[in-house]
Amino acid sequence: MFGIISKSLKTGVVTTGYPDTPAEVSSHARGKPQIDWAGWKDARPAAAVCPTGAIETRDESGARAVTLDLGKCIFCGLCADVDPAIRMTNQRALAAPSRESLRQTARYGLNADGTQQPLLAAPAASDAKPESLETVGRQLRARIQAVLGRSLHIREVDAGSCNGCEVEIHGLNSPVYDIERFGIHFVASPRHADMLLVTGPVTRNMELALKKTYDATPDPRLVVAVGACGCSAGIFGRNYATCGAVDAVIPVDLYIPGCPPHPLVILDGLLRLLGRLEDRR
Ligand code: SF4
Repeated sequence: MFGIISKSLKTGVVTTGYPDTPAEVSSHARGKPQIDWAGWKDARPAAAVCPTGAIETRDESGARAVTLDLGKCIFCGLCADVDPAIRMTNQRALAAPSRESLRQTARYGLNADGTQQPLLAAPAASDAKPESLETVGRQLRARIQAVLGRSLHIREVDAGSCNGCEVEIHGLNSPVYDIERFGIHFVASPRHADMLLVTGPVTRNMELALKKTYDATPDPRLVVAVGACGCSAGIFGRNYATCGAVDAVIPVDLYIPGCPPHPLVILDGLLRLLGRLEDRR
């Protein structure tokens, strides 16, 4: 017993100070690709190597629309390897209230040789997420506080994930992230839950189970899709074994992209949803 107490005292507090202090994410962590939209001359090589179709080009009437879908991006960096207009960042806090706000689209003139220039329309400012996320967070906070007070109970549902997201979600309960200090608890039954945290492309074997879990969760229930697969079906897409993203089966209130999302990114998304981050600031 003395040994345990002595070890605890020597170890000290390991819990992150986030959100009171800035989140510390390793500089080696890979986040969203940053695109030089104005200088981008040809999106085709990057689109060709992107394994999830996160970069898409559409040519029509002498113009090209190029879309970067952060809900599909797995931060693999292959696009940055073939295209000098793209660089990888460690920016990972990308939670958004709608799939549309995870898409960035630019329009270019289309040249005879297939390259693109000039930039006709940069991605709309509304494509940037934080404001809309705060807005949804405020609305949902009012909804949550009216009914739930300040605590939140989460039922995690693995609808077909590789378990990468589960490892990160599990980390939320570790002493480092300690999600329970915010009054957020994971529960075993959807009947005790206010929120479903759903991972994975929804496999056809899990489709009915997910629907039943959603139906068993009392109103007002919230659904958060976690990871590229939960947001967009990711690398798997829709096929004989999967129904696609979580929102193909049940309504989703918040999308947290990443492959997998860092625990701080999940925490950030949940806190923004609850409006607590905003309160503390
Ligand atoms: S980082 Fe990978 S998944 Fe994301 S846009 Fe680039 S190639 Fe596609």
